[in-house]
Amino acid sequence: MIYEELKYRQSWTLEQKIDHVVGVVSDFLTRLNNKAYISFSGGKDSTVLLDIIRRFVNKDILAVFCNTGNEYPEVVKFVRQTENVKFIRPEIHIKQIIEKYGFPLISKEQSQYIRQAKHTNSEKLRNIRLYGSINGIGKIAERWKFLINAPFDVSEKCCYFLKKKPFDKFCKESGLYPIIGTMASESRLRFQKWLKTGCNSFETNLIASYPLSIWTENDIWAYIRRLNIPYCNIYDKDVARTGCMVCGFGCHIKGDRRFYFLKENNLKIYEHFMKMTNNGISYKEALQYCGIDFPDSTNKQMKFNF
Ligand code: SF4
Repeated sequence: MIYEELKYRQSWTLEQKIDHVVGVVSDFLTRLNNKAYISFSGGKDSTVLLDIIRRFVNKDILAVFCNTGNEYPEVVKFVRQTENVKFIRPEIHIKQIIEKYGFPLISKEQSQYIRQAKHTNSEKLRNIRLYGSINGIGKIAERWKFLINAPFDVSEKCCYFLKKKPFDKFCKESGLYPIIGTMASESRLRFQKWLKTGCNSFETNLIASYPLSIWTENDIWAYIRRLNIPYCNIYDKDVARTGCMVCGFGCHIKGDRRFYFLKENNLKIYEHFMKMTNNGISYKEALQYCGIDFPDSTNKQMKFNF
């Protein structure tokens, strides 16, 4: 796949994109003898994916939801109201993950780079994370390099334990493969993945379908409105994103209000998460250290006596 192909497909009409989803999923199901399920998060993207597949391809296909323990109550309620959804859970609580591995901050990619720069024994890898590889990629953004010396750890591992591992376990036990509602436009990682595999991947270690890859957020809302399908009411409450309630990925972006929303709407949950610690530093203190705008932030960067 090439970038121009993605741009071209992203310019298709909604009808063409729906046809594309039907074609991609039908091909996936045929090649895998119908051994597939929909990875359902209760968010708008997987809601659209589920609707298209059950409406046009297979009305009985199973959906699977991973209740990470970090889901908005509105999302869990919406998922419970959706038919034929299996709930799975992680084996470990987010509190233990943060304690052991660190806070998920900035982005999955940057968290991984910061963790590696701080803990790797490989000088080569550390140099790549600090200065980039030959073509300049793979390095920590200048503005976040100070986190290598933070008195707490930053890590991307949370996603692995709360989401990837439970789904991997389900796939192994059920023999079913996932159909996932991610879009290439969402992040660089997802774009690169699409360039590598296209909308269906049959690689031995990664059998999965990504039929919404060429969609955009506008297409998702256009589909919801045109078909008038039910969606989680959290989107009507000034929340830009669903997914985990308390996640530091993207929380530095100007205008992000996730922590304000949580504090205003669910003070107990907000306080519970803000008290979680790594290396004795609370989530609240870590956000303050990073200079993130959140309800309890002050303008001064927090000082630690280490
Ligand atoms: S999205 Fe954030 S909080 Fe949720 S599992 Fe991934 S890292 Fe953890």
